[in-house]
This record gives sequence, C-alpha cells and structure tokens, in this order.
Amino acid sequence: MHDVIIIGAGPAGLAAAFWCDELGLDTLVLEQNEHVGGQLLSIYGPVNDYPGVPANNGREFLERFSESVNKADFDLWTNVEIESVDLKAKRVALRSGEELHSISLIIATGVRRRQLGIPGEAEFLGRGIIESATRDRNEFAGMDVCVIGGGEAAAENALLLAEVCPTVTLVHRSKTLKARPDFVQQLQGQHCITIFPESAVTRILGSDKVEAVEILRKDALQPFQMAVRGVVIRIGVEPNNELFREQLTLDDAGYAIVTSQHEASVANVFAIGDVSSPLAPTISGASGAGATAAKVIAARLNKRT
Ligand SMILES: Cc1cc2nc3c(=O)[nH]c(=O)nc-3n(C[C@H](O)[C@H](O)[C@H](O)COP(=O)(O)OP(=O)(O)OC[C@H]3O[C@@H](n4cnc5c(N)ncnc54)[C@H](O)[C@@H]3O)c2cc1C
Repeated sequence: MHDVIIIGAGPAGLAAAFWCDELGLDTLVLEQNEHVGGQLLSIYGPVNDYPGVPANNGREFLERFSESVNKADFDLWTNVEIESVDLKAKRVALRSGEELHSISLIIATGVRRRQLGIPGEAEFLGRGIIESATRDRNEFAGMDVCVIGGGEAAAENALLLAEVCPTVTLVHRSKTLKARPDFVQQLQGQHCITIFPESAVTRILGSDKVEAVEILRKDALQPFQMAVRGVVIRIGVEPNNELFREQLTLDDAGYAIVTSQHEASVANVFAIGDVSSPLAPTISGASGAGATAAKVIAARLNKRT
C-alpha cells in the first residue's frame, strides 16, 4: 500500500513526486513511455517563461528540472501499461496482471495532439508530416508546404516555414483565425502565405512521401488538390482521460474538473497539470499543482507539511 500513486511523469507528475518525497510520503510514479518528461520532449524552441530556469529547448529544461527531481527518493516505473483504475478503491491494475494500491491518487496524464483522422495522416508520419517546424524546417527548405489549423501553434509553424519555403498554405475551418492578433498580422503580411478559411484538408496524398493535399472549401461541391511536400497538423490538443473519464466529473472538452486544491470529483483523487488545465497549460502551472496536491495529501495523512 503506497501513500500516493502518481500516473504520468511529465512536469506535473515529476513535481508532485518531488514534493511527495519532501513531505515523507511513500510514492510510486507510473509512466507509460520509456522516458519521463511528457511534452517537454517535444519542445524544440526555447523555454523562457519558467522563472529562473531559462532553457534553449524542452530537453535542456528537463535536464535542469531533473537535477532536483532525481535527488528525491520515490519509485518510478516507466514503460508501464495501465489496464484500468478504480478511483474510489484507489486500485491500479496493470496489463502485466499486477495490482497496486494507494491511499491517494494523482492523475497527471497531460494532453496529446488532436488528430484529423483523415486518410494519409498516419501513413505519412515521418514521411512529409512535419512534427515540428522549429526542428524540421531546414529539411523542408525550398518546398511548398501546408499547415492545418487556425490557432497559435498553426500560425507559429506557418510563420517559421515561411522563412524557408516558397509557399505556405494555411487551411483552417473557422471564418477567422484564432491565433493572437500579432501572429495574424504577421501571417497576413507574408506574401508567400495563402490562407484558406472555412476549409478542410480531407486527404493527404502521395506514394512514398507526401505529394499533395486535398482541400475542400465551404460551399464547394468538390475538393481540389494542391501539390505540397510537407504538412503540419496543429488542430489543438485533447486530454488523456481514457483511464478515468467514466469515473470523474469532466468539462465539455473532457478535462477533469478540480477544486482549488486540485482534488477531482472522487475524494483523495487529484488531477494536476494539463489534464485539468484547459485555460493555462504551462510547466509552471503543472509544477505548482503538483506541489499543492502533495501538500494537501500530506496534511490529510498527518505527515510533515
Ligand atoms: C511544442 C510545445 C511547446 C511548449 N512550450 C511551453 C513553454 O515555453 N512554456 C510552458 O510553460 N509550457 C510550454 N508547453 C506546455 C507544457 O509542455 C505543458 O504545459 C506541460 O508539459 C504539462 O505537463 P503535464 O505533466 O501536465 O503533462 P504532459 O507533459 O503531457 O505529461 C503527461 C505524462 O503522462 C503520461 N501518461 C499519459 N497517459 C498515461 C497513462 N495512461 N499511463 C501512464 N502515463 C501516462 C505521458 O506519457 C506523459 O509523460 C509547450 C508544449 C508544447 C507541446
């Protein structure tokens, strides 16, 4: 029986584990991936907004974050496949058949990129689907590309690609872009960027690599094809809530609803970081939530606070 089981070892889960150890709690962290860090592993640009820890990218940030976390004494299991969780009973069943028990549970499963679910999306992963313009734009220099999405991340990727690509086609569903005004202004000022509002990419085409996208404009009867060599998909994120969505109160978008102490709708179950923060998904928010949840749990268990 552990005091706390933490599911997810991104910044939220790691910060919570660090604090749980500080407060003398017997803690086990379960991470599905081989490596800890969560989304930090896909940040290829600078992290400037975690006060006191500037870093050139997410991995560098993680290294510095881990300097503290690694000093803490908690159990960390990676490559773990969780079969199911009973939140009321605080029981975690692993695919290996093992059952784990705790007094409190912390859910720190974060978010993942939303997928389009169109033909070609999975097929051309790593073969023309661009993971990150910050990291990969030189590989696509001189090529025509398409960016799908109308928010901040799509705009940022389009602007980065416009530095090296002859044409960038930005396709999004709404009438107006949702990105912040200075990004929109920059997009409109770039003559190599063409924006298709109220439109959708319906297929990604090619033989070995991406060669074209099929675009359907609102009110058009037929889609048309546009030759491109690279595609960036940035249509938002969704919470990793499969393990608990039948057991917790969620908002309309599937994020866990929590109290100011980060407790979810089942007693002694806490949801921290991006999985419960649709409005402010940040590293600092995730770590702060980890500290709060750990302190509340320790206080309830009458441990040192
Ligand atoms: C490109 C990019 C740039 C960003 N830049 C910044 C920035 O500059 N500043 C900033 O503050 N924030 C930035 N962010 C956001 C920041 O990375 C997130 O807010 C933060 O990582 C959230 O931490 P988290 O621990 O809640 O979730 P995550 O980082 O998503 O970690 C969740 C972890 O849970 C694990 N997990 C999920 N499901 C399970 C399961 N069933 N079983 C076990 N483990 C599971 C995942 O594998 C993952 O390791 C950026 C994000 C991206 C993608």
